[in-house]
Amino acid sequence: MRKSKCVGCGRQVPSFEIVEYGSMEAGFKRLCRRCFNREAATAAGLDNFEHIEFDQIRLKDADGKIHEFHFTTFLFGTGVALDAFELRNGNPGGYRFQVIAEPNEDPLAMLGRLIAKIRRALAVKHLEDGEYGLQIGQAGVVRGLIDWDAAQDGYLPLLVIDGREISWDDFGRCLMTFEGAQFKLEISDMSEEL
Ligand SMILES: [Zn+2]
Repeated sequence: MRKSKCVGCGRQVPSFEIVEYGSMEAGFKRLCRRCFNREAATAAGLDNFEHIEFDQIRLKDADGKIHEFHFTTFLFGTGVALDAFELRNGNPGGYRFQVIAEPNEDPLAMLGRLIAKIRRALAVKHLEDGEYGLQIGQAGVVRGLIDWDAAQDGYLPLLVIDGREISWDDFGRCLMTFEGAQFKLEISDMSEEL
């Protein structure tokens, strides 16, 4: 896992824990989430904000496969985002989830909400590896997230469905099973429930 040094506390932390904080004029400094949240809390006058670091947890999906989730907390303006994500080669990848709360919400309650959300999502499989390759399940519903596909230089999305990275081409082939059908596409923020 790639590590970077936080200029606030001097700790070596995983690169995904580092926030570039500052402005074009004053310059940027590389802070860990804890130091960043502390500075953001002071700037926002939130004296009671408590930054808690949660250990990773392991949860099973519908097929009994284990997924390990890491957490980061991010204080922004008047809210707190708690993110859960898996790692692929040391970087966030696979399943990702987020909940948003007021800065004074109990962090453990927030974690509880996030874990409940993860469990609901892991219980549902949208894609099946069928006789003819990847297929959309019987329900005809797909939930996932839209990610950057480095191989496509950002021109086409990489989809993350059931925690799996699915190229736009592969997803297109899945849709051809339904040639002649109509569909509905809804896009919503990471923190919303799908
Ligand atoms: Zn730090």
